[in-house]
Amino acid sequence: MNNGKKMVESKAATIVWFRRDFRVENNPALDYAISTRGEVIAVYIEYNEIKDEWKPGAASRWWCHHSLERLSDSLAKQGVRLRYFRGDPGNILPAIVKQTASTAVCWNRLYEPEEIKIEKAVSAALASTDHQAFDSRLLFSPGTILNQQAKPYRVFTPFWKKARSQLEVTGITLCTTKKNKMELNNQKRLSKECSLAELGLLGEHSWRSKLQNYWTPGEDSARKKVNRFLKHAIGNYDTNRDIPSVDGTSKISPHLHFGEITPAQIVYRLINQDLLYKNSISVERFLTELGWREFSHHVLWHFPDTTNRAMNHKFLKFWPNKPNQKYLKAWQTGNTGIPLIDAGMRELWETGWMHNRVRMIVASFLTKNLGIHWLHGAKWFWDTLVDADLANNTLGWQWVAGCGVDAAPYYRIFNPYTQAKRFDEKLKYINKWLPDRNGAEVTPIVDVKKSRDKALTKYKNSKTLSNK
Ligand SMILES: Cc1cc2nc3c(=O)[nH]c(=O)nc-3n(C[C@H](O)[C@H](O)[C@H](O)COP(=O)(O)OP(=O)(O)OC[C@H]3O[C@@H](n4cnc5c(N)ncnc54)[C@H](O)[C@@H]3O)c2cc1C
Repeated sequence: MNNGKKMVESKAATIVWFRRDFRVENNPALDYAISTRGEVIAVYIEYNEIKDEWKPGAASRWWCHHSLERLSDSLAKQGVRLRYFRGDPGNILPAIVKQTASTAVCWNRLYEPEEIKIEKAVSAALASTDHQAFDSRLLFSPGTILNQQAKPYRVFTPFWKKARSQLEVTGITLCTTKKNKMELNNQKRLSKECSLAELGLLGEHSWRSKLQNYWTPGEDSARKKVNRFLKHAIGNYDTNRDIPSVDGTSKISPHLHFGEITPAQIVYRLINQDLLYKNSISVERFLTELGWREFSHHVLWHFPDTTNRAMNHKFLKFWPNKPNQKYLKAWQTGNTGIPLIDAGMRELWETGWMHNRVRMIVASFLTKNLGIHWLHGAKWFWDTLVDADLANNTLGWQWVAGCGVDAAPYYRIFNPYTQAKRFDEKLKYINKWLPDRNGAEVTPIVDVKKSRDKALTKYKNSKTLSNK
């Protein structure tokens, strides 16, 4: 008993520290706590303030708030109350252990550089308490897929070949602990506990309010979305995934980011419903996209400085430090005068999401035609995407900019006009997001051909730069 304030009168308690694993199903940390048969104390700590950078943006915080609301409802059905705190988990968790006389703390791992640092500090602060961390965010934990020299892969295809064959061997295991409803746990507020609203995730900006027109955060919604996708869309995924006007992809990315569902649960469904082995190109293609997610997380884990620095050091001084503000603003607000670019940027602003092909095209346009550093694009995406994910965003931007892993063998510059012709021939996507233009042409801020030639010349000249 500590401070004479023991709150748990009966069985020993285990604290589950929730951190972007906002689900009840297939949650190894929660299952572990339940399996101890003692009280489960569920805790969420808002610690963005102690982060040095890449603090979640406005769209992410909106999602996080509502996802926590849903998680709290689901936990309440199990008899567990989700408790909210703000501050440094390295101070807060030991204090909760003391107050509740808990005997153990557990959580699921995150792999971003700052999250790893925070987890290490928490482990040190809990040195005298039993604590356990579990892996559930990926199909393969970082560091487990290496090449023959035991080095990380820098190219996707061999990485996925190895990972994919391993999947055949290991298969998929999900948590199976039975979640009987527990006795409603202690309702007393702990010291420094606050309300969900006091976490301050929603902020002041009214922009976020429209996100609810497009998204429902939470585990139930994630499950429904996977159901819908597997029932109606996966069969044509291989062709439809490239057509931005078609609802042909899963739109599961924000749910995966917030851990409302795990890739293992999705792959389990593919296997269980006999979809994977029916020799379907579309199913294999979808699995490969989940493979890209694996790859980006592994790459970030091995090369943590790539969030801010080009992986290929030849590009460290390739872009000017200061962007052309006029160009950047036009790109952000969808006012470049190039229909497909503007449609994509407006889809992002309106919905907090953008189709993958259009992400590639707008990123290529910013970094190549407009000559602006990829970090300015990555930061705008970071603030506005509901699925903003440090690993996927970093890899996506560096890949398109040509300075990351898996670089294309040549300096690829997407032509937004030919891309529109190929993937939005009937202008359905463009007209949907640019209704105000009514098909009218607007003078582009740059000439696509001239700016392309300029970018290519710059690239050729930069080839002489050192790779150190
Ligand atoms: C410049 C750029 C920035 C990006 N930023 C992000 C980001 O911040 N967060 C994010 O989740 N994805 C990002 N992506 C990857 C991709 O665009 C999205 O994952 C995808 O559009 C999400 O839609 P979906 O769930 O319908 O995908 P689906 O096509 O249904 O794919 C299923 C899942 O596979 C994963 N996936 C698919 N494509 C990729 C990819 N290219 N790289 C990594 N994982 C992938 C995602 O988790 C996705 O949810 C970025 C891509 C680019 C080119």
